[in-house]
Amino acid sequence: MWYNRLMDRDLVKILGYGVDSFTFDEAVEYAFSNPGQIVTINPEMISAAQKNQDFADIISSAELIVPDGIGIEAGLKILGHRVHRIPGIELGKALIQRFTKAGKSIALVGAKPEVLEAAVNNLKSEIPELNIVYSHDGYFNDDENIISQVIETSPDLVLVALGSPKQEFFIHTLKKQLPNSTMIGLGGSFDVWAGAVERAPEIYQKLGLEWLYRTVKEPKRFKRIFPTLPLFVLKVCKERILSK
Ligand code: UDP
Repeated sequence: MWYNRLMDRDLVKILGYGVDSFTFDEAVEYAFSNPGQIVTINPEMISAAQKNQDFADIISSAELIVPDGIGIEAGLKILGHRVHRIPGIELGKALIQRFTKAGKSIALVGAKPEVLEAAVNNLKSEIPELNIVYSHDGYFNDDENIISQVIETSPDLVLVALGSPKQEFFIHTLKKQLPNSTMIGLGGSFDVWAGAVERAPEIYQKLGLEWLYRTVKEPKRFKRIFPTLPLFVLKVCKERILSK
């Protein structure tokens, strides 16, 4: 508890969105001690939120907002804030370890059935004490049904990998009925944990160029980045000029 009290949120703003300025370890500890929705924010999400007020409201009401990639880190730097990126996939894994160490339970929702199964098996062999109380693939039509199944198992940590913004909407609904749990949207992380998709080599991760590697490997991702990313940089530069 004392640790928790020491850790007040310190939000910095980018294009109207708050981003928490915790270090990686602080974010893990904060998420462990404070239930709620974690959003791993990136430029594509901000761009989607600018066109969808419901999504914008969900992001703004999240209990923890971490800068997922180089886009947000660089944007914040342009605005004069030094914040280190916290890749969602790494935060997700660290949370699994932290919650498991404390004897807490976990639910996973998302990805294709065979991907989810492989991810669960790999996680179990890596972390034998893992207590997974619920898992379901991400291809369902009846959200309410899955939500009531999750609630019945009352997990302490819920990992949702449905892609954005689907996962953020799902978590937002779920958190109203499961107010004491920590929940995070993890995009394509289960695919990586399943071994179905490789993460970019470390050098790309270090240089913040994971997005470039993924786009070259999977060219259909190109349209997600262009023109969103350059437009995002332009808007941030405009924000900086206007703030002077
Ligand atoms: N997915 C899902 N249900 C859906 C759509 C997507 O479970 O209706 C899963 C998909 O199988 C993948 C993840 O959501 O595991 C989305 O990955 P993507 O790389 O598109 O997400 P990003 O990290 O780019 O947000």
